[in-house]
Amino acid sequence: MKCPFCGSVHDQVLDSRSIEHTSAVKRRRECFNCKKRYTTFERPEKATLMVVKSDNRREPFELKKVLGGVNRSCRKRSISAETMDKIVSEIENEIMGEYVMEVPSSIIGEKILEKLWDIDLVAYIRFASVYRKFGDIDTFMKELKKLKKEHTKRQKTRVCSY
Ligand SMILES: [Zn+2]
Repeated sequence: MKCPFCGSVHDQVLDSRSIEHTSAVKRRRECFNCKKRYTTFERPEKATLMVVKSDNRREPFELKKVLGGVNRSCRKRSISAETMDKIVSEIENEIMGEYVMEVPSSIIGEKILEKLWDIDLVAYIRFASVYRKFGDIDTFMKELKKLKKEHTKRQKTRVCSY
């Protein structure tokens, strides 16, 4: 730790306590050089979990992608935002608990399916029918967007043609 007063890196930890409900640690330190005291807050760096996709490319795990997939599958179903949030954080907890460095994208998909199965069969079937065919969330999302675009285009054409 670098002393905020003189910049010396030699210090002594006087007191160390963890902050409740977080993984952060508060430390009271004294500088060996100038003898001044200061407090530091340290929190462990969360390692970025990488998702291994079906083509072996890797990308950082993003919760919003999981939420996006769940959201779309649950569209127009009577599923509250709270329930969707709950599913997503359950999936996050499970994945963070079971995988440290890398997680196959197929595992994430399977977990989403598991959760949807418990709450809404229509949402499950929606996710399964597209997801199983494409094997990962990215392709699934791209395909959904394409379908949506085509649908909008078709509607526009209908409006314009007579
Ligand atoms: Zn100092």
